Amino acid sequence: MSLLSVRNLVIDYARTRALDGADLEVARGEKVGLVGESGSGKSTLGSAVGRLLPGAARHSGGEVLLAGEPVFGLPPARLRALRRRQLGYVFQDPIGSLDPTMRVGAQLRLVLGRGGDVHFHLGRVKLDDPRVVRAYPHQLSGGMAQRVAIAIAMATAPELLVADEPTAALDSQVREEVSDMVFALAAEAGTSILWLSHDLPAVARRCDRVAVMYGGRVVESGPAREVLGDPAHPYTAALAGSAPAAAAHGVRLEPVPGRPPVLTGPSPGCAFAPRCAFAERRCEHERPAPVRIRAQDVLCHRAAELQDRLTALSEVKA
Ligand code: ADP
Repeated sequence: MSLLSVRNLVIDYARTRALDGADLEVARGEKVGLVGESGSGKSTLGSAVGRLLPGAARHSGGEVLLAGEPVFGLPPARLRALRRRQLGYVFQDPIGSLDPTMRVGAQLRLVLGRGGDVHFHLGRVKLDDPRVVRAYPHQLSGGMAQRVAIAIAMATAPELLVADEPTAALDSQVREEVSDMVFALAAEAGTSILWLSHDLPAVARRCDRVAVMYGGRVVESGPAREVLGDPAHPYTAALAGSAPAAAAHGVRLEPVPGRPPVLTGPSPGCAFAPRCAFAERRCEHERPAPVRIRAQDVLCHRAAELQDRLTALSEVKA
């Protein structure tokens, strides 16, 4: 059984459909990268795992199972217990994700409970300076604050860590250090990781599997090397082709001209069709069902017939 199973999940914010039937599986101990352009639904999916969505969000369909428990069907006390024991979160803005009114040590103690060793947990994220315990979040650098957030998220050795672009706001030097730390602590604790990111090369290096989001759905998922090295969805092919250049310049991913859609209801067909070089009529009117291409699960009507052409494309770009 998967540790995390997201099935046909639909989430709306007022009139915006953020998730339009998303599917995702994370096995125990697995590291899964969730990639896609801004607006594709990564954060909404990451937050939905712990039912940590903003107040405006509505669960309109589908389910999230964490260790077999239906996250959207749990009473509040069970949900709190599940978050506390089984889930950890790290976000992009470390200072904003800490409580500005509490000293670092006190925040960590709150998670650890009585008898928890604050110094030990700060030591694990290489914050050995005793002054850190008494510091307030705004007195820390971004990198230090993110380490504190990681120490807090990993203090209870959760089963799943959801990391929502935790290094995006950090300097490039610190970025690697912080990522190394997360993956090392997770490996030690046997924690699975769901790593939301724009940085495809980093995901390829660190994750076992990748799920590619577009228009609120996971359009391709499978082993990281296969998905990014030999994509089976035209969107992944465009994304993988543009990634090295985009990452090198630190710019937003823009794999193909145009913008991802902002949906106001279910997409009538494939949401990528308007930008897809291979789209046919049915792509605009029929929602693609998942197909298996090699080791990948793909939402594309033409995936089977496009295999060779996409492989040739990614070889040219590699
Ligand atoms: P990503 O993390 O990939 O950038 P998001 O999950 O943040 O994607 O966004 C998915 C869609 O939902 C986008 O169209 C975005 O504008 C919309 N959205 C996200 N958060 C909110 C919110 N709090 N209120 C209204 N719309 C939102």
